[in-house]
Amino acid sequence: MARHRTGRAVVTGGAGFVGSHLCERLLERGSEVVCVDNFATGSPRNVRHLSAAPGFRLVEADVTRPLADTGPVDTVFHLASAASPADYLRLPEETLEAGSLGTRTALRLALRHGARMVLASTSEVYGDPLQYPQQEGYWGNVNPIGPRSVYDEAKRYAEALTMAYHRTHGTDVAIARIFNCYGPRMRPDDGRAVPTFIGQALAGEAITVSGDGLQTRSICYVDDTVRGLLALADSGATGPVNIGSTEELSMLRLAELVRRLAGSGSPIVHIGRPADDPRFRRPDTRLAEKLLDWRPAVRMEEGLRRTIDWFMAERAVPAARSAA
Ligand code: NAD
Repeated sequence: MARHRTGRAVVTGGAGFVGSHLCERLLERGSEVVCVDNFATGSPRNVRHLSAAPGFRLVEADVTRPLADTGPVDTVFHLASAASPADYLRLPEETLEAGSLGTRTALRLALRHGARMVLASTSEVYGDPLQYPQQEGYWGNVNPIGPRSVYDEAKRYAEALTMAYHRTHGTDVAIARIFNCYGPRMRPDDGRAVPTFIGQALAGEAITVSGDGLQTRSICYVDDTVRGLLALADSGATGPVNIGSTEELSMLRLAELVRRLAGSGSPIVHIGRPADDPRFRRPDTRLAEKLLDWRPAVRMEEGLRRTIDWFMAERAVPAARSAA
């Protein structure tokens, strides 16, 4: 049975979507948390509810620059990076630097304190995959000079640097290849399918599906993703390990599902497909099951309902304020 790592954790990108849920879970299980973020795509609002928690500290800093000492550290979770296509296409150089210089900062911190470093990598390292479902041994099919390369290649470099520290310095590392994940605290304007569809459905606007909508994704509820990251941190595994749902569906079907769950009458319209958009995405998660005893627990309808409820509550806040 893996032991829970309950010492101090540094979470880079902790004020982002996934990072804020990770900070929450770490505090719940007794860790101290230093959340390091420059708010490039995240917001202090995502961790505002944690600010009074004993053991939580928010540090505004850019991880591509040397970090002030955080004190003793048990685990470094490196999540700092733009993650949605809309964000990384807007921040191409920053994204490459978060993957390269930012990963180096995280690794140096782990090396200095003898900590374990967990890298939040991505299914995008598989590119437009020629293997289906994708196993960790697959090397990927990535366009190195396309617009998406700033993200895909940054993460591939981040993985390479992580393994170099492991081999050269003996740094204790783990690589999580996270597949599309969704849930509360995604920004409605971040361009990813779930928040876009929910925002459009709730506003009664047309739901915009790119291309014919037959491209597939496997979307995982954020609580499950975070549970996977923690299980990886607690294990002795180096990885890479796929963390994602095997419940695959087409974007058209997702749009229909969101529309039904939101009780919306929005029409579904088709728009142009972005360059190098992968056609299929489904993880082979047998390694995570075997090494981490991890599998997603939240069914898609349930996860989407929770996410829609959160979006509705968020929309109600400004309305209630202006009514007051
Ligand atoms: P996000 O944009 O919500 O969070 C990223 C956070 O990193 C933000 O708070 C941002 O301000 C911060 N950040 C960016 N550059 C920084 C820098 N130089 N210094 C300090 N902070 C910086 O994205 P997310 O969806 O929460 O993704 C978190 C991590 O998980 C990313 O590394 C992403 O690549 C990975 N990931 C996410 C998904 C997903 O579906 N959400 C899938 C695969 C991988």
